[in-house]
Amino acid sequence: MSPQPWTDSPPDDAAARGRAALTAWLAAQPTDLFADDAELRALVEAYGFEDRAPGLSAAGRAVAGPLDAAVRENNLHRNLPVLDDYDAVGNYRPRVSHHPSWREAGRIIYGTGIMAAYGEARRPHRYVLSLFYLTAQAGEAGHNCPLACAAGAIRVLQELGTPAQQARYLSPLLNPDFDQNFTASQFLTEVQGGSDVGANALIATPVERGRGAGSRWTLRGEKWFCSNVDADVYVITARVADPARGTAGLGLFLVPALRADGRPNRVHIRRLKDKLGTRSMASGELDLLDAEAEAIGPVDDGFKNVIQHVITTSRLYNATGCAAHARRAWVVASTYAQHRAAFGRPIGAFATVQETLAWMRADAAAMLAGSLWLAALAERQDAGALQPPEAAFFRVAVNLHKLRTAQLAHEAVNRGIEVLGGNGAIESFSVLPRLLRDNVVYENWEGTHNVLRAQVLRDCERYGVHEGFFAVLAGALPPEDWALLAADREAIQRLLLAPAPLRELGFRPLADRLATYVMRAAMAGVEALAGCAALTRRHLVALPLDEAYLALIGGLQR
Ligand SMILES: Cc1cc2nc3c(=O)[nH]c(=O)nc-3n(C[C@H](O)[C@H](O)[C@H](O)COP(=O)(O)OP(=O)(O)OC[C@H]3O[C@@H](n4cnc5c(N)ncnc54)[C@H](O)[C@@H]3O)c2cc1C
Repeated sequence: MSPQPWTDSPPDDAAARGRAALTAWLAAQPTDLFADDAELRALVEAYGFEDRAPGLSAAGRAVAGPLDAAVRENNLHRNLPVLDDYDAVGNYRPRVSHHPSWREAGRIIYGTGIMAAYGEARRPHRYVLSLFYLTAQAGEAGHNCPLACAAGAIRVLQELGTPAQQARYLSPLLNPDFDQNFTASQFLTEVQGGSDVGANALIATPVERGRGAGSRWTLRGEKWFCSNVDADVYVITARVADPARGTAGLGLFLVPALRADGRPNRVHIRRLKDKLGTRSMASGELDLLDAEAEAIGPVDDGFKNVIQHVITTSRLYNATGCAAHARRAWVVASTYAQHRAAFGRPIGAFATVQETLAWMRADAAAMLAGSLWLAALAERQDAGALQPPEAAFFRVAVNLHKLRTAQLAHEAVNRGIEVLGGNGAIESFSVLPRLLRDNVVYENWEGTHNVLRAQVLRDCERYGVHEGFFAVLAGALPPEDWALLAADREAIQRLLLAPAPLRELGFRPLADRLATYVMRAAMAGVEALAGCAALTRRHLVALPLDEAYLALIGGLQR
């Protein structure tokens, strides 16, 4: 065969050297994302669950190897989920058809035992979120959104399910075998609005007397955003009382895909959404045509229960997924900086590249630390062990953390793309474009930025939760932050007295600062995270550009 100049160039050729450097970068990707992650390992040790390291390491290897390959394959345009609608003779039989790589990814992700862990230990949130942080480094991957939904369904069933519901649904939801298990989804959003859940119009009609847990209802109406639309069980909000009652008139329901007698439930998938991100996962629009449903908890507590058990869980998953996006971006970019050369030097030798990489690494660690701290509080909340100030802190911090992690992850992935230069924008070159696209969705679902800020402000005004929030932070932050915290405490007290538009505008930058305190407090005392914590402080004050700063960013290089 005659040599092909574009592949068989002589070894001293510039193009061959450039390609060899890129090949070396590919070969330098870690094969175990847990072993590679000093920050995660330090946090696991600090929280004392090192006995779980084998499970985390297995997940870290699976994500870096077979999962990554399966998700990359699945996310190709030609392999995305499609809706098969009619059978051979024209009966409407909607079925989401997936490429085999989607099933392969599901086997790996559920096979880590991530949902099964909820059945092994009563309150395993830190371990579960550590696993999720690893699986989410492959992006949404077609299954990471459904995992968050399944976690919410499991938690709400464990807390509020009737014995019959627990017997029927928990065991398949906990099953790690993706070929046998149940997956779940959660549908709140309707076409008239997602943030304003109180505008939900889907109607629930009782089949029998009683409004208690497990009571039977039918649901009629539509849901506009239905991710994992082919799940085995849906968790759904629906109206049980006068629309004028807003969220207070919403019940929370479980809708199985199959009715008790095995026939399909009365739901109709209209179409799948053609999305910017999370494309491997099927999101559809759904009509419920008197679908059979059972109440989860008393229907009159529906909104309270969906927030406390379902949305709080998925916001924590979302934040952890964002930490994962940022970390993976750092892994890709930091290895690239070691292998790519420009102007005769590895690009990682340039101070500005080093600074970019250090910011990415520090922010990823800060996000992860914040998530695990909140997971620890969730465990204590489930045990009924939270003191009132801690409960107030948790309520505020989950929302701020969801907000800030989504922003920081967007920045981090974008910065990773910048480090890769033009190659960063190429879908076939690295995972980064997919992470960026997925992250845009993570920024908007589970509460948009504005809505999270509005909720925190409302909670501060109505319930004074900022008092508990600041009290917990004052006890957890290092002394160097105390004066800043005190100033911000006064700032929020002033803001709460300001007229509404100014209050809302003033809270935008303040919310980012408050979220930074949560992350810094979560890292305090973990020696291995000291450099990351120090650099995270740049979100509160400008750090002086001096030798110490150079040493700080130098210490955070790969
Ligand atoms: C790919 C994808 C999948 C999804 N899957 C699901 C799912 O499975 N289940 C589900 O229930 N939902 C799902 N969603 C919907 C998602 O949760 C909503 O899109 C989100 O909550 C925002 O609601 P909305 O789109 O109706 O925006 P709107 O509520 O119309 O908001 C529009 C804009 O107005 C702003 N805004 C709204 N209220 C205020 C306020 N009080 N103050 C200031 N600004 C405000 C918002 O911040 C936003 O910028 C999905 C969304 C996407 C993109």
